[in-house]
Amino acid sequence: MHVKQIVGNVSDLIYHLCNDPACKIEVPERLTVSHEALVRTGLAARCVSIAVREATDEEILLVHSEEYLEAVKKTPYMTLEDLMAFTQQYGDVYFHPNIYHCAKLAVGATLQLVDSVMTGRVRNGIALVRPPGHHSQKSAASGFCIFNNVAIGARYAMVLIVDWDVHHGQGVQYCFEDDPNVLYFSWHRYEHQNFWPNLRESDYDSVGKEKGAGFNINVPWNKVGMENSDYLAVFFHVLLPVAYEFCPDLVLVSAGFDSAIGDPEGKMCATPDIFAHLTHLLMNLAGGKLCAVLEGGYNLTSLAQSVCQTVQTLLGDPAPLPADLGGPCESVLKSIHCVRSAHKQYWSCLKYTGTTSPCLLMIVSFISQ
Ligand SMILES: [Zn+2]
Repeated sequence: MHVKQIVGNVSDLIYHLCNDPACKIEVPERLTVSHEALVRTGLAARCVSIAVREATDEEILLVHSEEYLEAVKKTPYMTLEDLMAFTQQYGDVYFHPNIYHCAKLAVGATLQLVDSVMTGRVRNGIALVRPPGHHSQKSAASGFCIFNNVAIGARYAMVLIVDWDVHHGQGVQYCFEDDPNVLYFSWHRYEHQNFWPNLRESDYDSVGKEKGAGFNINVPWNKVGMENSDYLAVFFHVLLPVAYEFCPDLVLVSAGFDSAIGDPEGKMCATPDIFAHLTHLLMNLAGGKLCAVLEGGYNLTSLAQSVCQTVQTLLGDPAPLPADLGGPCESVLKSIHCVRSAHKQYWSCLKYTGTTSPCLLMIVSFISQ
């Protein structure tokens, strides 16, 4: 359909700017349902709201190139034809005329939260923002992401970034792969490189480069349907031991909830209450300085429930008993073993990797109930 046939409907506009039905899932309702659920459950009333602001050019340039920023700045003034042409340079993303403004607010909101946590004004928090950030790169938009909110937020000395979104945040990896001050952990649907963004460097053996070797941890999900016990097993046997050894000053979470059950992108089976446990486990790091920043999550029901579970835990409520805890599946045990082996030379907590048997992993997971 030609752009001139577009009527004022935002979803239609998104569809045409993107040329891909997949883009129809990154919709404004993702924020409204999450916020409404927080209000309905009384969680919003227990939170301190922090005023949002636009990020400055200097802040955006901490991660992005001047050429890219200047190009994005022109998008509000482009014709729809030009916007479509601009969009087509990148993968799985669309440029709405308002997106530069929204992307500046998403970065600014992330920075307001990080500043509030680092100065002790609040203990922790979540930034509910659109567009998300973790796929965007120095000079490129990607996967609904314009500016890399979390990467820009990682300006402090020793930062742990936990990316529990179901996609690999390759943009974050590229930003910090040679930086030993930022430990980036991402688990992601991979299926032996058959899932987007289909990158060789999303596999477990991309451990970081030069001084940053050992500070990039990728855990590939090589099948769909991962459950709560698979997520917990990766936390217990990969992320947490390394995170404690790293000892961060701040924890940033690329909080994508497309890793929850019912999501059309993730196709995983972990229930929303697992995010209460993941949040709780991370709150013991960095003196509890934790900032979660929304990334993906396209099933509006499990998205809103998962946001509530995360916020409830940040507020100090006890986590519910995780549903359906069995043991981790064979595929996850293999991934855990590969990741630990790839990183054993960098972390003393992984030194004895190779002796870990699947039985031990199952027992530990069982005890965690
Ligand atoms: Zn995602």
